[in-house]
Amino acid sequence: MVTQYKNLINGEMVDNGQWLDVVNPATEEVIGQVPSAGAGELDNAVAAARAAFKTWKKATFEERQAVCMAISGVIKENADELFRLLTSEQGKPHAQAKGEIFGAAGLAAAQSTLQLEEEIIQDDDTRLHRHRRVPVGVVGGIVPWNFPIMMAIQKIVPALMAGCTIVLKPSPFTPLTTLRIAELIADKVPAGTVNIITGEDVLGPMITSHADIDKITFTGSTATGKKIMEGASADLKRITLELGGNDASIVMPDADPKKVAEQLFWASFQNAGQVCIAAKRVYIHEDIYDELSQAIADFAKTVVVGDGSEQGTGVGPIQNKKQYDRVLELIEDAKDNGYKFLTGGDKDPSGTGYFVPLTILDNPPEDARIVAEEQFGPVMPLMKFSTEEEVIARANASEYGLAGAVWTADTEKGQEIAEQLETGTVWINEFMHLSPFAPFGGHKQSGFGAEYGKEGLKEFTYPQVITVKKDNVVA
Ligand code: NAD
Repeated sequence: MVTQYKNLINGEMVDNGQWLDVVNPATEEVIGQVPSAGAGELDNAVAAARAAFKTWKKATFEERQAVCMAISGVIKENADELFRLLTSEQGKPHAQAKGEIFGAAGLAAAQSTLQLEEEIIQDDDTRLHRHRRVPVGVVGGIVPWNFPIMMAIQKIVPALMAGCTIVLKPSPFTPLTTLRIAELIADKVPAGTVNIITGEDVLGPMITSHADIDKITFTGSTATGKKIMEGASADLKRITLELGGNDASIVMPDADPKKVAEQLFWASFQNAGQVCIAAKRVYIHEDIYDELSQAIADFAKTVVVGDGSEQGTGVGPIQNKKQYDRVLELIEDAKDNGYKFLTGGDKDPSGTGYFVPLTILDNPPEDARIVAEEQFGPVMPLMKFSTEEEVIARANASEYGLAGAVWTADTEKGQEIAEQLETGTVWINEFMHLSPFAPFGGHKQSGFGAEYGKEGLKEFTYPQVITVKKDNVVA
């Protein structure tokens, strides 16, 4: 019998006797089961969070920090077990899973230093004017399957640091490591402050529309984000949405192809391309297009696609069948349209596991589906450009606005281009680096609000202003 993982509600690990299977995407074998929670379990979790909020909102900064540091410590101490479990359910290679686990522990520690100091707007003979931040209350957190632990931590920790309590729902595709962490922290966080429940996608809308949840923090697709905004409108819940992206990387003619080829490859193929901030459109200046595209394709041929638990694997499978079918459909569409492939696109991807050969396209048109849509898979379209003005316009011609990158020897010029890109984050000569202290959020249809830093913390609070008129009641 496979291991059954339980939900965390009010400090207890519980189940309801109904189970969902969780599959390893490399082997298609069932590797665990989690509770299929419904309205009853959600009500219990929300009631526990509401009760805990009464005392947690009064916890001092030091008390909140101690709990968040305990979460960080537990993840670090159990990293070996956790990263293996993460690879088995998510598919990413061990080294990347280890990176996610230690990254989540580090993020928890860093974010536990964040606080929103009270601001004194005015303090003179006539008036004291205070601006303080107060927690919004009970938070519903909804998480996707590409970075399940990082995303869970970046919701739980700021919620707690703001004085909120949380009911978190992992993706039904990747709930195991999150529930194992739930078990490990159950006696380290005050009962009811953190509740983790699992269920099918229908549990998401139940959270969004739950009358006793005050705020939704969501990471996932833009399509689901729109539904959440709609669901949250009934009682004007506060929302933070981290959504999809179709990030452009712009490679200027002064970038050295030998230096950037490998970096650009990983900007697209890390986590099998299932990264919201992956390089999903790569624009290369015509002067270096041939040399750089060849160098990227040559490097791709050295990278092994396989089971993430096997040594030497660089790129794992697609996480689930639905996404696998979608990526294959985009590749099929590119083939039907006669676009040129530098690698991939030619093999039959049948067999066990959701593996897709590394696919690099040679200058497909801008309106190709594989360019215009978020692929979220091991696919990298390379496109040629001539002028700066043209490439900025092409990069911005997207409904998304999550992130982007510029690769150039001239970092002043890089920043000048960055300032013209319509995205929440732009890197010069690197990719995917996020600081726990800088706001991360999407422009346009890539999001609403931000996570990380004080800006992210603020999203779990309301402003409250208290004014004291000093000179009008006393004689
Ligand atoms: P998804 O939107 O399908 O699912 C995300 C979560 O929402 C899951 O837990 C799912 O069960 C739940 N859900 C599904 N339908 C719901 C509904 N109607 N109401 C409430 N919840 C619902 O996304 P996914 O396929 O898991 O993740 C991939 C997407 O996430 C990509 O578009 C990617 O770009 C995006 N993403 C964005 C960021 C970011 O920070 N901006 C980070 C990671 C992933």
